Amino acid sequence: MIRNCMEDIVNNVITIVLNDYKEMCKCEKCIQDIKAIALNNLKPLYAVTSEGMVYSKMKELENQFRIDVINQLVSATEMVLKNPKH
Ligand SMILES: [Zn+2]
Repeated sequence: MIRNCMEDIVNNVITIVLNDYKEMCKCEKCIQDIKAIALNNLKPLYAVTSEGMVYSKMKELENQFRIDVINQLVSATEMVLKNPKH
């Protein structure tokens, strides 16, 4: 199974970032937009793993890439906040 681990890290970190943006719309559309923008600016991190392995490796990877992911999510959130699609 091939998995983009960066996507999982983004999914974990986005909740923390959005907590700081009380004024940000939290609908599915806006959240998808933020994730797409952030993921386009982050290197994909593909891993061939079984489901169990992904989760044990995830914490390690999350710590390693956390700052980058937070930075990208913050700028993506600000972009969507200024130009909401609805
Ligand atoms: Zn929205």
